[in-house]
Amino acid sequence: MTETASAAAPIETECVIIGAGPCGLFAVFELGLLGLKCHIVDSLKHPGGQCAELYPDKPIYDIPALPVCGAQELVDRLLQQIQPFAAGFHLGEEVTEVRRRADGRFDVATSKGTRFDAGAVVIAAGLGSFQPRRLAVEGVDSVEGRQLHYRVARAEQYHGQDLVICGGGDSALDWALEFCGKARSVTLVHRRSEFRAQPASVARMHELAAAGRLRQLTGQVAALAISDGRLTSVTVNGPEGAVTDLACDHLFAFFGLHPKLGPIAEWGIELEKKALRVDTERYQTSVPGIFAIGDINTYPGKKKLILSGFHEAALAAFGVQAYVYPNKRQFLQYTTTSPIMQQRLGVAGEG
Ligand SMILES: Cc1cc2nc3c(=O)[nH]c(=O)nc-3n(C[C@H](O)[C@H](O)[C@H](O)COP(=O)(O)OP(=O)(O)OC[C@H]3O[C@@H](n4cnc5c(N)ncnc54)[C@H](O)[C@@H]3O)c2cc1C
Repeated sequence: MTETASAAAPIETECVIIGAGPCGLFAVFELGLLGLKCHIVDSLKHPGGQCAELYPDKPIYDIPALPVCGAQELVDRLLQQIQPFAAGFHLGEEVTEVRRRADGRFDVATSKGTRFDAGAVVIAAGLGSFQPRRLAVEGVDSVEGRQLHYRVARAEQYHGQDLVICGGGDSALDWALEFCGKARSVTLVHRRSEFRAQPASVARMHELAAAGRLRQLTGQVAALAISDGRLTSVTVNGPEGAVTDLACDHLFAFFGLHPKLGPIAEWGIELEKKALRVDTERYQTSVPGIFAIGDINTYPGKKKLILSGFHEAALAAFGVQAYVYPNKRQFLQYTTTSPIMQQRLGVAGEG
């Protein structure tokens, strides 16, 4: 699904969608019905935005015609619905730059160096891009990226070393189990004795701890010992004044993700209380050719609901079409009766 970044040539496209939450995904559909091709970028490694990241297993009751639908199920259904339009997906990349050129097209760039030459931009960035919650202890800045990590890349580089893993969710447990037996030591530090991770992982971790193969500590990292710029140990403060010093080559903090408006605030678009102000005819921002839909936008009467974002996606698609092809006549067609839309959907002749 993910295309690789091309450092050389920018990808030319009619539209870039920033954010693969439910509204960004539905924008692929509405643009596709109008015959517009797009690429969609998300800083998360999976599509679905808040639905997938914050509440995948919860039921949603206010999607029209679906009396109840799991949040991840909604994402899966949207992915199925947009399949005919073969949008380019770029996951695990944050859009860092959007610049309107003199010719009215847009230069868009991501944190991984992917570049686009886009006819229009739809921002469906929700509450912003999800960032890791950071460890708040003195000295973290000097070791971040070298010995303090918020994600694991190339796991084998940590084998044979003393590892301290903080957190109580799936990432913390999965990596503690993965490194057990491969690292010199693994200590899992969590502020509570209950864990949010999958019960099977928690049970396995307790088994390994009982067998002395990994250590589990209740408490929080309170201090880092850094000598000559190198992290050597961490101090964990536990319940009832317990203090434990742990030898540490690498410290991993998996405290979950939180959304941050991030680079969007620097693209010269008019903001109102951290949201992008749009009109309600096309959902266009203060910059012509940049549209904003879903939780990221604001207008009189705005309600942050998936339903509202779907409506906004439909009107923004017409806005994109008018912006990219100003001389093209626009008219409303029904999917039930339009041969061209049915052709685009790949269902021509099935009706
Ligand atoms: C617990 C909970 C329950 C909810 N229940 C309901 C409900 O029952 N009904 C309902 O209608 N709504 C519900 N909502 C709200 C609903 O989830 C949001 O309205 C919806 O997710 C908004 O969709 P979106 O596509 O606008 O944004 P999001 O779902 O927030 O997705 C935005 C995406 O954009 C990405 N992004 C942001 N900035 C960048 C960038 N610079 N580069 C790349 N990617 C970026 C983010 O990583 C994210 O994946 C609920 C929300 C929560 C938290």
